[in-house]
Amino acid sequence: MEINKENRKWLDSMNLTHPIVIAGPCSAETEEQVLKTAHLLKNTDTNVFRAGIWKPRTRPGGFEGVGEIGLPWLQKVKEETGLLVTTEVGNADHVEKALKHNIDILWVGARTTVNPFVVQEIADALKGVDIPVLIKNPVNPDLALWLGAVERFKSVGISQLGVIHRGFSEYNPLHYRNKPKWHIAIELKKEFPDLPLILDPSHICGRRDTIFDVSQTGLDLNYDGFMIETHFDPDNAWSDASQQITPAQLDQITKDLKIRQKYSYREDFQSNLNRYRKELDLIDHHIIEILTNRMQVSEKIGRLKHQENVAILQSARWSEILDEMTKVAEKNGLNKEFVEKIFKTIHVESINIQHNVK
Ligand code: PEP
Ligand code: MN
Repeated sequence: MEINKENRKWLDSMNLTHPIVIAGPCSAETEEQVLKTAHLLKNTDTNVFRAGIWKPRTRPGGFEGVGEIGLPWLQKVKEETGLLVTTEVGNADHVEKALKHNIDILWVGARTTVNPFVVQEIADALKGVDIPVLIKNPVNPDLALWLGAVERFKSVGISQLGVIHRGFSEYNPLHYRNKPKWHIAIELKKEFPDLPLILDPSHICGRRDTIFDVSQTGLDLNYDGFMIETHFDPDNAWSDASQQITPAQLDQITKDLKIRQKYSYREDFQSNLNRYRKELDLIDHHIIEILTNRMQVSEKIGRLKHQENVAILQSARWSEILDEMTKVAEKNGLNKEFVEKIFKTIHVESINIQHNVK
């Protein structure tokens, strides 16, 4: 399904310049909290004010959002600050209420994107309505679900679309609350090159101190902007307290970020880039040649083992190779995990080839 430059026009029409900054609390808690935070954000680079009205909590018992009574608070934010406003919709009823209160942009949460029934219900509720919709990645690392949600909204005629990358959950999260798995967002970008891609470092990090670095990575990867949870008193927030930052901290972050140009047409940049790209092309061809040679040798070994009736997997030998190669790689300044991954993949293929030898 085609998304073309037309699909970015809504950014211009809403004055959303690069990088877009969507900021505001995880949850709308009280009218005072919403307005106080919004007024502080008004003096930052924030373009759009966010606040969750209906909160999808993983387990019951947490704060589930103030509900419909919070929508007029967002309208007040619009009137008093001039900021655009956005909230999460999780079903057709939310859509109806959000539209009734003139919310400017809707977003679909990560726990909704996983469910095609609900995504379709929300999309159907928006038939004939011209409102921008931002679709968060599903909680699980499934690109097809994310693409599917985009397609469902496209097919009911929603043209003002964007996606939000908020990371993917894991059983035992370590450094990140939700691992970024950048390649999934890059894959999505490959399918829909012109779809605005927003980064949500708050839900990726789950903590304050890493938000800057993750945001910079987003800019380096050409993301169109950010959604960052911001609260005038983060420590006392009713949800996601540990990842929310103050408007002043947000201001500092957006000031410190190095904004990359989308591209440069300067001549020396172009010619150096072309030269390096040619170098890479040659190296990539070389890699394929070397892999071909390696697999041919694997095939010979496979034949030998087959003739001698010897088992294919020789664990001790394999451990030796892996040890030796990661040592050499480290000496050369390569990342150990990266080299380990490559050799594991090569090993699996090598075993397959030996297995198929007759
Ligand atoms: C949120 O933005 O507050 C939220 C609930 O996010 P997600 O759907 O990414 O968990
Ligand atoms: Mn949140």
